[in-house]
Amino acid sequence: MDKKITAKIKKELETRRKEIIGELDKFTTQDKHVKGKHRPQFDDLGTANDDNAKEIDMYTTNLSVSSVLENNLKDIDSALKRIKEGKYGVCKYCGQEIGEKRLLARPVSSACVACKNKLQKGL
Ligand SMILES: [Zn+2]
Repeated sequence: MDKKITAKIKKELETRRKEIIGELDKFTTQDKHVKGKHRPQFDDLGTANDDNAKEIDMYTTNLSVSSVLENNLKDIDSALKRIKEGKYGVCKYCGQEIGEKRLLARPVSSACVACKNKLQKGL
């Protein structure tokens, strides 16, 4: 991997990481017991049945949004870890280089296109 490209990707990942943490902070609180786990705040709209249904609706939506963000964060963290360890850009399945084009399009990739396709087809 070209060092300049790795540095560029690293910067992008760090920016994205901050953005995601900022998003999570808006509607979740960090779980006291599980590191990296976020709990959406439960908005108390009122006590009527309608309000309760809305509260649950919002909570369910927030829960799925926060888990998507958490997963993105995990992908970014592991990509940053691979950069740090000098393993970035190498496919975790076949050990071949993933390729700059793919990495620039999807910086968190940990598998090359060939392996990814095989996995998706379930081969
Ligand atoms: Zn591969």
